[in-house]
Amino acid sequence: MLGLLINKPGELELKEIPSTTILQDNEVKIRLIYGGICGSDLSVFKGRLAHATYPICPGHELIGTIFEVGRNSTFEIGQRVVVMPNSYCDECENCRNGRRNICINKKSLGVNIDGGFSEEFIISEKYVMRIPDELPNEKAVLIEPFAVIVHALEKVSITKDTTVAIIGCGTEGLLAITLANHLGATITGVDIKHEKLEKIKGIFPNIETALPEGVKGKVFDVVIETAGARSSFEQGVEIVKPGGAMVLVGITPEATIPVVQVVRKEITLYGSIIYNIPNDFQKSIDYLKKESFKVDQIVSKIYHFTDYAKAYEDATSGNYGKILLNFREV
Ligand SMILES: [Zn+2]
Ligand SMILES: [Zn+2]
Repeated sequence: MLGLLINKPGELELKEIPSTTILQDNEVKIRLIYGGICGSDLSVFKGRLAHATYPICPGHELIGTIFEVGRNSTFEIGQRVVVMPNSYCDECENCRNGRRNICINKKSLGVNIDGGFSEEFIISEKYVMRIPDELPNEKAVLIEPFAVIVHALEKVSITKDTTVAIIGCGTEGLLAITLANHLGATITGVDIKHEKLEKIKGIFPNIETALPEGVKGKVFDVVIETAGARSSFEQGVEIVKPGGAMVLVGITPEATIPVVQVVRKEITLYGSIIYNIPNDFQKSIDYLKKESFKVDQIVSKIYHFTDYAKAYEDATSGNYGKILLNFREV
């Protein structure tokens, strides 16, 4: 079978990889449908993730169809599934407290354990979840990135009376806007790129959009930071209302915390990393199943996986929403 491999930072190739023929009792073999390219895939590719290991097969936003099952598997051949790409041990203190997302033994597909950008992929069935029939592939591939947002927005209370600023309008930002909009909040989407703001207006005519300068002096009950940039973190702290909260989804390597503002305004900063499984995945699916939940325009382009170089190039440009790799035959 064919699969992608990053030999070392910057060196990505398509390779013939021998298929594993014998499954462990609890494993399933998946024939991939789509793989979504995520910001963290790009960081691994560029060598910007400290805990990444090489060589590595990239990819963690994966959906596919089961075509082989281990002896004890409860799944059936032909079922469509989504992969839950972060492992947990259920033994460390965090796992025992119900926080598998911060398991100290966590491994992440495509980062420090081989991921799934390949025609076939084998994983323990505890890391897969069935995709309901009514969810098309193009929506199902968003289950994982959207679970990140479901988890993040639960840190705060968002209702129809809440004003929310979402800084960074890439895929995670757009998903955050979609959920906050669904919850009835009054939203302002902030991004440094005009095109992204235009795109949001096209999808959600009811929400405000602004360049960072445009929200200077304004305040919001809740700020969601998905850009992962120093300036957006620092501006976020400024535009949180006294008594309000900011949720950090983007991974800004370093920034200055204006402690005086945090203290005087008595604001709360929440870090939020991935999701708890299976709960957040289940919630993500339940939202995406709703007809009214519009995410169609979040996927910008779909490339056949053999065109991976172009797909990675487009994803790196930052000019598009989600880019997908199609692993089926064309
Ligand atoms: Zn991702
Ligand atoms: Zn653990």
